Amino acid sequence: MADEHETDVVVVGGGLAGLLVAEATARAGRRVVVLERSHAPGGRARTQPRGQHAFNFGPHALYLEGPLHRALRHARVPTEGAPPPLRGAAALFADGRVDALPVHFGGVLRAAWFGARDAAELVSALRSVQRRLTAPRASQLSTLPAAAWLDDLATRAPVRALLATLLRLATYGGDVQQLSADVAQLQLAASLRHGVRYVHGGWQTLVDGLLAQLTRRGGQLAHARAHALELGDSAGVARRPWHRVIDAEGRRYLARDLVLACSPGVAATLLAGADPGLAAFAARARPVVMRCVDLGVRGSEGLRFTLGVDVPFYLSPQRDVQGVAPDGHTTVHAGYYLGADGSSPLPGSGGEQLDAAIAAASPGLEERVVERRVLPRAVVHNALPTWSTGGLRGRPACASSVPGVWFAGDWVGPTGYLADAAAASALDVASGIARDGEGGLRCAS
Ligand SMILES: Cc1cc2nc3c(=O)[nH]c(=O)nc-3n(C[C@H](O)[C@H](O)[C@H](O)COP(=O)(O)OP(=O)(O)OC[C@H]3O[C@@H](n4cnc5c(N)ncnc54)[C@H](O)[C@@H]3O)c2cc1C
Repeated sequence: MADEHETDVVVVGGGLAGLLVAEATARAGRRVVVLERSHAPGGRARTQPRGQHAFNFGPHALYLEGPLHRALRHARVPTEGAPPPLRGAAALFADGRVDALPVHFGGVLRAAWFGARDAAELVSALRSVQRRLTAPRASQLSTLPAAAWLDDLATRAPVRALLATLLRLATYGGDVQQLSADVAQLQLAASLRHGVRYVHGGWQTLVDGLLAQLTRRGGQLAHARAHALELGDSAGVARRPWHRVIDAEGRRYLARDLVLACSPGVAATLLAGADPGLAAFAARARPVVMRCVDLGVRGSEGLRFTLGVDVPFYLSPQRDVQGVAPDGHTTVHAGYYLGADGSSPLPGSGGEQLDAAIAAASPGLEERVVERRVLPRAVVHNALPTWSTGGLRGRPACASSVPGVWFAGDWVGPTGYLADAAAASALDVASGIARDGEGGLRCAS
């Protein structure tokens, strides 16, 4: 058939997860086609030009030595960049007050809201976060609310407030009553041990690097929206059956391995009940959302890395990050954490609150803005891991219950959070496919 394309592996979704599966699978010698419904690949990792500025899809920091960083290094994708500008960082309070953020020695000395006893308790709390976890403790944390974990770490109100602020920064979710403590521990420890980096050229550098390696190894990217699946029947078949993806234009893609690297909702719709466990997970998944304002600004004076303490606010100038702003200008990412969908304590969309917080954190900034983009409800994470559903261990396995159908993304498998989960699940899928399935690699679920 002219409109039927036979290959080894079809990947639905050309975000980081899909591109990582495809690159690793192509490197292992398989024929791969990635179907991406948008005109450009990259999903939430893409960077878009606005005038002479380049905006990531909201603020994006790469966790150093995490699963994504390691996978990119292995794939020979450049990841150079600059650290967040924490020197001189500021704390914003709900009453409009701005003080120092005690995240380094100078900040501790200058912060009027943070005393010497607080600093001593903070040091011991951070030491305890960095301690390696025993397996029983890790398992306990997956069913403990992050709020209870914070209570164990700190008794002094300023220390608890600072830890909650850093936790919000590292998880994008303010919902510490619901969030499982394993995520809290994982993300805070990762930030403390190796830190994070803003990537030169924005995260598009990562997307372009992966795409270049994929095409170099013969993998293909097709602009196509997966519309329906025809799943092969494995009964009585010695090898795994063929599966077929039909795109919105009626083109067909035939493969023994099919990877759904899209949201759990899209995966469940495409599978149409063939994996009841996934359908149940998709129905209860609560995305974590953020209102983002990306700004192109003249000059750099007065721009400080700022976190809200009792207000869920973030602002970061992309200082020393190459290729995202013209000379003499700065790209700034700001945002209001809206928490897990439906749990936001804010009335409305957070628009007015975010604008007021930007004005309080950086007075006079508005007059210097030359580019502005608003993402009213950016989905930072597809499914908040909650203590009541077993935390990271409660996420779906990367092998579906249908042989030869796999999942990859920020909502899959027991390893990592945010893009690190997308990368870890992608590599698990690639190694499962390399082992030729046969029931597949089973991520814990
Ligand atoms: C504001 C914001 C801030 C973030 N900050 C960080 C951070 O600091 N650090 C970090 O590690 N992570 C961060 N993230 C998360 C990170 O961007 C994601 O975890 C990662 O990009 C997810 O990749 P993915 O491939 O799993 O999903 P996506 O990027 O969502 O890719 C899925 C792709 O599937 C495509 N698709 C969907 N349906 C179909 C279909 N039917 N047919 C074909 N294609 C389809 C979509 O178009 C999309 O391209 C942030 C995200 C946001 C929004």
